[in-house]
Amino acid sequence: MSELRYDGRVAVVTGAGHGLGRQHALELASRGAKVVVNDLGGDRSGSGASAGPAQEVVEEIKKNGGEAVANPDNVATPEGAQAIIQTAVDTFGKVDIVINNAGILRDKSFKNMSVEEFDGVIAVHLRGSFLVSSAAWSHLREQGFGRIVNTSSPAGLFGNFGQANYATAKMGLVGFTKTLAHEGAKYNIKANAIAPVAWTRMTEDLLPADFADKLGVDQVTPLVAFLAHESNEDSGQVYTVGGGRIAKIFVAEGPGYGQKETLSVEDVRDNWAAINGDSPLTVFKNVGEQMGPLITQLTS
Ligand code: NAD
Repeated sequence: MSELRYDGRVAVVTGAGHGLGRQHALELASRGAKVVVNDLGGDRSGSGASAGPAQEVVEEIKKNGGEAVANPDNVATPEGAQAIIQTAVDTFGKVDIVINNAGILRDKSFKNMSVEEFDGVIAVHLRGSFLVSSAAWSHLREQGFGRIVNTSSPAGLFGNFGQANYATAKMGLVGFTKTLAHEGAKYNIKANAIAPVAWTRMTEDLLPADFADKLGVDQVTPLVAFLAHESNEDSGQVYTVGGGRIAKIFVAEGPGYGQKETLSVEDVRDNWAAINGDSPLTVFKNVGEQMGPLITQLTS
């Protein structure tokens, strides 16, 4: 079985000072990639900053014989995102792979969630992924190669109590990923997203302690590394991953209900079962395809 290698590739991993990002950086570096280890070094809620965590991961990579450089900038500011990508270009001459992983939590029930708690979480996860990808985009386009992996979450895809801010950001990343996949297609830029489950400082008081050993970050990284590899041809997809299990998550549409005459409120009531029908489900490749059933109805 041939080993997947990343020799000659330059990877940027955001939030790589701890948890999942650290594991992604270690794995890519151990397989030949040159890695920018970005981490702001704050606490779980995003307070504080320290260059220490990113530097420690770089030292670990170097000790193992790999190549890496630390970057302590904030993904959530345009200057920070530019500096992260510039670190890759200045140190290693280019950027090929962007792993948008940095994240914070500010959980509150919706009733108690402040604007600051909402904005702060959106800024790191959603805006940060936009800013770092945006800073890398022209490099990826010009070289005709790029692999972007965004970090969504089951909490965003399915909703979770106390996480209106986080879930909004994480579902936003799905639309972001699918759009980058369309816009990157002709430049061989593939963008995909993961919805992981792993035992980290972010989840250690949220996940059942019995599963801590089985939910290692090393059970998530193989998918990220595969999606970041040049041999991966898929784009715009979302996968849930953790504890040794991987599954694709689909955005799908039911068969629906349609009628020629003008739709009334009573029509909606009387056809509610058909409107909610879930068999068969269709997964559309783009919004044009999704318009297909409507166009058929309008033209028939
Ligand atoms: P973690 O707290 O261990 O790691 C997150 C890292 O991001 C930290 O090192 C932190 O310093 C860094 N960071 C935070 N804000 C930053 C900023 N503005 N700029 C740069 N770096 C910043 O948590 P983790 O569990 O490893 O989370 C990694 C990603 O995976 C996050 O996006 C998280 O939402 C996502 N995720 C994790 C799980 C899980 O089960 N652990 C589940 C779903 C999604």
